[in-house]
Amino acid sequence: MKIAKDFKWEMGHRLPFHKGKCRNLHGHSYKLTVEFEGTLDENGMVLDYYDVKEIVGPIVENLDHSVMVYEEDKELIDVLEKLNSKAVIVPFQTTAENMCGYFLKKIKDAGLPENINGIRVWVYETENTYATEAMKV
Ligand SMILES: [Zn+2]
Repeated sequence: MKIAKDFKWEMGHRLPFHKGKCRNLHGHSYKLTVEFEGTLDENGMVLDYYDVKEIVGPIVENLDHSVMVYEEDKELIDVLEKLNSKAVIVPFQTTAENMCGYFLKKIKDAGLPENINGIRVWVYETENTYATEAMKV
């Protein structure tokens, strides 16, 4: 059985390697869908939606109105420091694909009940573009 919940946040980023306009500092209204797969507990739930919010909410809140920056993008890190602006520095290029792995690891590390055996995330950069990845837990 599977359940899912959506989360939304605003965030800036850029792709320094990109030949086109994604090289520029810009932002998206991101959407994350998190799906949990598992057996039903004694109450007939995979995971209480309240608990989904407790697990995923802080991970998303940490990103909201920040700029996600690749750790090698020193110029952007310098600028954000000068502006005293919220930055989340990560060890990967900030593509939707890489963000899937970021969320899967954070969700897994938050600690999940025994009955959960899989997670899948969808990271939407726009309404019609997304990346998705799954993980067994
Ligand atoms: Zn972008």
